[in-house]
Amino acid sequence: MNINSKLPNLGTTIFTVIGQLAKEHNAINLSQGFPNFSPDFKLLQLVNKAHLDDFNQYAPMQGVLSLRETISEKTESLYGTFYHPESEVTITAGATEAIFTSIAAFIKPEDEVIVLRPAYDCYEPAIELFGGIVVPIPLIGSSFKVDWDALKKAISPKTRMMIINTPHNPTGTLWSESDMLQLQEVLKDTDIILLSDEVYEHITFDGEQHHSVSKFSDLASRSIICSSFGKTFHVTGWKIGYCVAPKALMQEFHKVHQYNVFSVNHALQIALNEYLQSPEHYLELGNFYQKKRDHFLNAIQGSRFEAVPSAGTYFQLLHYGKITDEKDTDFAERLIKEYQLASIPISVFCGSEYNEKFLRFCFGKTEDILDQAVEILHRI
Ligand code: PMP
Ligand code: GLN
Repeated sequence: MNINSKLPNLGTTIFTVIGQLAKEHNAINLSQGFPNFSPDFKLLQLVNKAHLDDFNQYAPMQGVLSLRETISEKTESLYGTFYHPESEVTITAGATEAIFTSIAAFIKPEDEVIVLRPAYDCYEPAIELFGGIVVPIPLIGSSFKVDWDALKKAISPKTRMMIINTPHNPTGTLWSESDMLQLQEVLKDTDIILLSDEVYEHITFDGEQHHSVSKFSDLASRSIICSSFGKTFHVTGWKIGYCVAPKALMQEFHKVHQYNVFSVNHALQIALNEYLQSPEHYLELGNFYQKKRDHFLNAIQGSRFEAVPSAGTYFQLLHYGKITDEKDTDFAERLIKEYQLASIPISVFCGSEYNEKFLRFCFGKTEDILDQAVEILHRI
C-alpha cells in the first residue's frame, strides 16, 4: 500500500529521541523540560477529592465555567485585560492542543506564518500539515533579539499568522515592553493573527516582568494567548492548559476544538480551580526557579561552558565554543554516550543551516541532580 505521507520529511520529536538515548545510556537527564519533583500534595488531594466527588464525566466543551471565571480574573488582575469567561476563555489539552487548534482553525493552503527561530518544535509541523508556508526569521546572534527589519520585510499580503513565545524556549529570553510596542506598530493595519505562546508566564527572574500580549490592546485584539498548567504547577504529564482570545477568534477556535478533543479532563479542572484561588501558588514560581538557576550557574563557574543567565523559563543555554567545533547535535549525542549527560541541541529549533554552539539544559530539577550534572560539566 502506498502511504502518501502528509509530512514526508518529518522525523520523531527531539524530546523522544534524546529521552530514549538518555535512558539507554543511563544519563542524567537535563534535556526534556519537566520537573523531577512532585507537585504540591494539596493539589493532588484536590484531584483525589474531585474524583471522589464524581467529576468523572465529560466537562463542558469550553471547560468548567468556574475555572474559566478564575482564569478571567487572574488574567485581568495580572495584565489588565478582561476576557469574558463564557466566550473568550477555553480549557485545552495542554498548550500543545491550543497551538495546534489555533493553526488548524486559521491556516489554509498557501497562507504564510511567520515564526521566529529558534522556535519550539510543535509550531512548524502543524503549519505544514494544513498547507501553510513557514516563513522563518532567525533571532539575532546570541542575543536572540528580534530582527525588526527582517520581520517587516517578511510580511506579505499572504501573511495570515505570526507566532511568538515569551518567556522563550529554548533561549530563556524575554520580550520587553518596547518589543511588544514595536510589534504592535508592525502589525497595525494588517489582518495578521498573533499566536502568543506564554506557557512560562510565571517563570521570570531578577525582578523582570512577563509582558503578555494581552497588556497591549491592539495586539490583544488580534491574539490567541496560550498558557499551560503543566509548567506552572509541576504537572507536565497532566497535559492541561488554556487559551484566551477575543470572541470572534475564539468562535473559530471552538469549531476545531469541539471535534478535536471536545473537552478536557473534568476532575483536573475542578481541582485546578480550587488551587488557583491562592495566587501565591503561581506568583512564587519565579523565585522558586530563580534559586535553581542560580544554583546551577554558580556551580558551573570554572567549567569551560559559558552562559548568559536565563531571564525566564526553566532552561539555560550553555555555549561550548571553548570546548569543541562539533555541531551541537553531534556534541549532544557524545555527551550522552561518553559522559552520561543529556541536553538538547538548539539547532533542532532552527532549521538545518544553524551552526551556533549552544546546548539547552533544563534546571527544573532537584539540587542533587543538578549537582551531578555540574560535576560532569566540569570534567568536559
Ligand atoms: N510551548 C512551549 C514553548 C513549551 O515549552 C511547551 C512544553 N514544554 C508547550 C508549548 C506545550 O505545553 P503543554 O505541555 O501544556 O502542551
Ligand atoms: N516543552 C518541553 C521542552 O521544551 C517538552 C515537551 C515535549 O516533550 N513535547 O523540553
